[in-house]
Amino acid sequence: MPGIEASLRAVRARMGAAERENGRAAGEVGLLAVSKTFDALAVRQAWEAGQRVFGESYLQEALDKMAQLADLPIEWHFIGPLQSNKTRPVANHFAWVHSVDRLKIAQRLSEQRDIHLPPLNVCVQVNVSGEASKSGVAPAEVPALLAAVTALPRLRLRGLMCIPEPTGDAALARGRFAQLRQLRDRANEAEGLAMDTLSMGMSDDMEWAIAEGATLVRVGSAIFGDRPAA
Ligand SMILES: *Cc1c(COP(=O)(O)O)cnc(C)c1O
Repeated sequence: MPGIEASLRAVRARMGAAERENGRAAGEVGLLAVSKTFDALAVRQAWEAGQRVFGESYLQEALDKMAQLADLPIEWHFIGPLQSNKTRPVANHFAWVHSVDRLKIAQRLSEQRDIHLPPLNVCVQVNVSGEASKSGVAPAEVPALLAAVTALPRLRLRGLMCIPEPTGDAALARGRFAQLRQLRDRANEAEGLAMDTLSMGMSDDMEWAIAEGATLVRVGSAIFGDRPAA
């Protein structure tokens, strides 16, 4: 495994190539470095290599890392499953939450967000593959949830997020990502929303996501190495 700096450079090169090949502007797609299961030192090394935005899935692990990295003005994004009894620290220690998938969670995040902080940026997670075990709101329920989220004062609705089933099938993967884009575009038009974010694409499928309009890819193992099997 090459070091974190070399891996980050390789990921950025992959993103740049995908931007070029798909008529996207250079640097248009953002990179969220997913540091879950990796320690604070790994995050610090990525920071030193120029990475500023990091994603975490497990609350306690994230809070521990934040404490060790308090000297760095990192922008932290929460991307993991949300339990309603743990929304307060999520509401107040992160700049973004990508995994809002029900109204109760959104309401709690809005109520609990510190009044001295700017509104919390949120994405609604959509279950585009229709797998029963996956989190995310069903596509048919997206418009209603978006309408409710936009009414919450301490949240800023930024867009949609998905985690499609892993597949080597380009057409299948691109179809999932295209579905998320269409949901975003239709909701923007029909509800007069201004969602600017499509959080989609990971280490193995970022090129397909960028081809379908991703604005933020969430990349872990291609930067930090393989995680121990869950
Ligand atoms: C772990 C994780 C990622 C990163 O996955 P890789 O395959 O390691 O790039 C992206 N998004 C979410 C929601 C994750 O939990």
